[in-house]
Amino acid sequence: MTAFSKMPVGNGYGDLFLFINGEWIEADGRDTSPVINPATGAVVGCVPHATADDLDLALAVAERSFQIWRRTPAYERAKVLKQTAALLRERAPHIEWLMTTEEGKPLAEAKYEIASAADYFEWFAEQSKRIYGRVVPARRLGIQQLVKRMAIGPVAAFTPWNFPGITPARKLAAALAAGCSVIIKPAEECPATALALARALDDAGLPKGVLQMVFGVPAEISEHLIASPVIRKVTFTGSVPVGRRLAAQAALGMKPITLELGGHGPVLVFDDADLDEAARLGAANRFRGTGQICISSTRFLVQRASYDTFTQKFVAAAEALKVGPGLDPATQVGPLANQRQVDKVEALVADALSLGAKILTGGKRVSGTGFFYAPTVLADVPMEARVMREEPFGPIAVLRPFETLEDGLAEANRLPYGLSAYAFTTSAKTAMAVGDGFEAGMIGINHFNMVVSELPFGGLKESGYGSEGGEEGIENYLVTKFISQI
Ligand code: NAD
Repeated sequence: MTAFSKMPVGNGYGDLFLFINGEWIEADGRDTSPVINPATGAVVGCVPHATADDLDLALAVAERSFQIWRRTPAYERAKVLKQTAALLRERAPHIEWLMTTEEGKPLAEAKYEIASAADYFEWFAEQSKRIYGRVVPARRLGIQQLVKRMAIGPVAAFTPWNFPGITPARKLAAALAAGCSVIIKPAEECPATALALARALDDAGLPKGVLQMVFGVPAEISEHLIASPVIRKVTFTGSVPVGRRLAAQAALGMKPITLELGGHGPVLVFDDADLDEAARLGAANRFRGTGQICISSTRFLVQRASYDTFTQKFVAAAEALKVGPGLDPATQVGPLANQRQVDKVEALVADALSLGAKILTGGKRVSGTGFFYAPTVLADVPMEARVMREEPFGPIAVLRPFETLEDGLAEANRLPYGLSAYAFTTSAKTAMAVGDGFEAGMIGINHFNMVVSELPFGGLKESGYGSEGGEEGIENYLVTKFISQI
């Protein structure tokens, strides 16, 4: 019986571990950090921090296990990933509960997230069988020219707290499908969800040491792992400043890095749009995940003639959302993930108000325990306000009017971000123009639901580089070799 079997599968938060060399390792004298339920502020667990020796062991194991996994036939790798998807679906109710307990999001969102995480494993299981090369005709007889695609090597992956299931799944599924070994450091705020993924992979038969999971002080762990010659590829999801720093560290070792960073998603609502639909879907999307979603719609830019009507409908839709603890099935908007987030949202709202923005609803904490903040709508926000350029990673929607398509696109593309962008219009011509004109990696027209395993997920400009889902997703973990043979 491993230590990890102490983690209850039925209910309860359970103990937390490091997963190194196939062993579930308890704190056992190591430093720990508390995990807090954002709905209550209560400590629900303590996550052990990996020591430098733990990381060195993980690196040695990752190097060894890579040689085993890269030589494992694609069909065998696919079987493990498919079985992982099946186990996640079977265990979904418990993992959803863990996620809501440590991250705060409503159970319905956690349910979607685990279903989606399972989809990523299933999709990349199939993709592992399609890592094709090619034979290129030679310029003279007797030469065989082969182009082969091969696993890049051991990967260091870093994931944030806002999607503790999908984000690790997206990285792990693609890297493992390609034949890489992985050391992942998920967010210390939400370790149990990530550990449940590791457990599913382990139970599905992933060879010992191919996946290892560590926690600790983020900067110390990333510095240690990225500097090691064992690591051949880095992948990070999180904020732009941290992404920039990790890209610089990776560059020192000439290591490719995939970065999925922040955004500030514009929504252009044109006069010809269905305003009821735009307001209803817009408010649901803006406040989903309590606004802590990198591809969230954040800046609602509404064509002048529709501005007042849209604003009215949007505020009504925002006010209809039920705020509460994620474990209450009626809840639509949960708490923010931590106190840092509450402080940040408060500061952004105060700054906008001090510069003349109008507050139409919200703008305050919700009383009681936990990190709750009311869905907030700010209208006529001056361009100088911080919220017009900083990612409002919280429940704040900003509304501003625009005149022409050109004006709208110019404002949409003004910021250095380029992750997501949206438009509502019934004109095919306008839809085509914004599809071409938005500087964003992901564009939604008349809807917001874009994240599925079979499609690319990634940004442009300072929102990062490299796409993580779909056919593009596995490319991040492959290198090209050319072999010419006489
Ligand atoms: P942060 O950038 O400090 O942390 C985000 C994640 O990155 C965390 O899980 C953290 O553990 C990890 N991290 C931080 N420093 C790291 C390092 N040196 N090496 C490796 N991992 C590291 O942000 P935060 O304070 O948690 O949140 C602040 C802002 O970050 C948010 O307001 C939002 O703008 C952005 N963010 C974006 C995403 C996203 O999905 N793109 C996710 C979380 C946070």
